[in-house]
Amino acid sequence: MTPEQSRELTARLEEAALFLLKHGLYRKPDDLARRFGLPIPVVRYWWRNLEDQTIELIDQSTATAKQTKQIRKAGQTLEGWEKVKRYRPECGAKLVNGRRCKHSVVIRPPEGWDRGALADRCRMHGGLARRVIRRKQKDDD
Ligand SMILES: [Zn+2]
Repeated sequence: MTPEQSRELTARLEEAALFLLKHGLYRKPDDLARRFGLPIPVVRYWWRNLEDQTIELIDQSTATAKQTKQIRKAGQTLEGWEKVKRYRPECGAKLVNGRRCKHSVVIRPPEGWDRGALADRCRMHGGLARRVIRRKQKDDD
């Protein structure tokens, strides 16, 4: 998974979570985090950083078709996280025997989610490194 894909995925999760919270479909960030298996500090952080935290309650029994669709879509996006967690891409680091590492890339701890929920390497190959490890590039000068 490229850093861009990881950040994009994380941004989608954030958007969906904030949509549901903003419209009062979950009372607290913690409730939503538990429901979808997201790290509680991450969802709290997303919510804290939202400028306008006024709740525009959507009553699900009187919601418009568009709202119902938005709610369903946000729920699906967040439900997808469990699948992403389970079927993470392979690390792919080159091993000395010429093969590539088949371990799953690591899920970053909450404080690393601003760089994307998924690292691009497994635990053994620097997935948890705090700084970006520069890959050796031939055209590096
Ligand atoms: Zn690896």
